[in-house]
Amino acid sequence: MQQHIAIIGAGIGGLSLAWALHKRGARVSLYEQGAIPNPISSSFDEHRITRHTYGGLSGYGALMPLAFRAYEELWRDLGATHYLPTNLLYVARRASDWYEATAGELDAMGIAHRPVSKAEIATRLPMLRQEGIAEAFEAEGAGMLFASRIVTDLARWLAEAGVALHPHSRVSEVDTEAGSFTVNGERRSADVVVIAAGAWLPAIYPAARPRLTPSRQVMLYLQPPVELATAWAAAPVLVDQGVTHGGYILPPRGGTRLKIGDHVFTRRGDGSDNRIATPEDVAAVKTAASEIFEGFERYELLEAKVCYYTVTDDERFVVEPIGARSWLLSACSGHGFKLGPVIASGLADAITGKRDATEVTAWAAGKG
Ligand SMILES: Cc1cc2nc3c(=O)[nH]c(=O)nc-3n(C[C@H](O)[C@H](O)[C@H](O)COP(=O)(O)OP(=O)(O)OC[C@H]3O[C@@H](n4cnc5c(N)ncnc54)[C@H](O)[C@@H]3O)c2cc1C
Repeated sequence: MQQHIAIIGAGIGGLSLAWALHKRGARVSLYEQGAIPNPISSSFDEHRITRHTYGGLSGYGALMPLAFRAYEELWRDLGATHYLPTNLLYVARRASDWYEATAGELDAMGIAHRPVSKAEIATRLPMLRQEGIAEAFEAEGAGMLFASRIVTDLARWLAEAGVALHPHSRVSEVDTEAGSFTVNGERRSADVVVIAAGAWLPAIYPAARPRLTPSRQVMLYLQPPVELATAWAAAPVLVDQGVTHGGYILPPRGGTRLKIGDHVFTRRGDGSDNRIATPEDVAAVKTAASEIFEGFERYELLEAKVCYYTVTDDERFVVEPIGARSWLLSACSGHGFKLGPVIASGLADAITGKRDATEVTAWAAGKG
């Protein structure tokens, strides 16, 4: 008999799991509290970074070739490629062993990389502050995933494939043993229930606290000064590691706007909070931006976008069975978009009995 899987949450996690399960012959019902896709989900934004370089988070570098392959399969199904390869330039403003740690991993994957001199940065990337740069390197195999285009097309693909999409359907009271739950006041059930609720996951499954914590993050969309437009239009994705910040910058390419964020978790707030950026939200990213950009005061602030994700201390995916008939699927860091489809494919294999559940849990945590 055809297996029936209910998925709660239509971010990249839930949508790509629905895609992978449908392709494996399962019947899927996808429940989303808002529109599908939901503009306030973590997955709905102009862009997200993808790369092979991983540095400290051991085990994930090895997953990246698979992550790229999963996206290639997705582009074939969607009939469109929502990815722009740009390379990634890593700038360290403090003593760092990231290049050393990463170079071997990149060599093993056949990804080209090279150190970049301060002189090259001065001519090619005049938007960066020169002071304090300790080292820089550039790697291929990296670029921008156009996130909102991807989730929009995935939702369209699922609808056309006949997957049951339930927008404006808030799920509560999940019985993980029975595989049942309440949606808009009505009790329903499935063979397996997957909670892929992003920053709302601890609200729906309180036992996940305090290990899984929602974190309020802010990204600034900026208009660069006119004289830097050409340099920005050819810029790679940038990661700038300072003493107090972990800045990541997406250049204004492929019809998107320039964006900067800081990979420092606030661990504040809750998924259901409002998305109106406060001066406090914006201050820390502005400080990071002024340490990274030469003449930051010349940039116009177009938008301060609030986004929530769920984090854990070790920043590893949580893909774990709970009860007899349920799973948790949570990215737990700022790498959930690039790994979304590959992790979802692994979970789809476990749910349909093609892979061992315990092995998939370890694999998704980068410990496979
Ligand atoms: C500032 C920021 C920068 C990031 N940068 C990167 C990056 O560069 N590269 C990268 O790979 N990743 C990045 N990420 C991480 C990535 O965006 C997330 O890990 C990923 O989008 C999470 O997807 P998700 O499906 O788990 O959650 P979400 O996209 O948040 O989706 C969860 C969905 O569940 C729904 N939901 C919740 N509760 C219920 C309920 N009770 N009933 C029904 N539906 C419900 C929500 O409405 C939501 O639509 C970043 C994240 C942030 C916040």
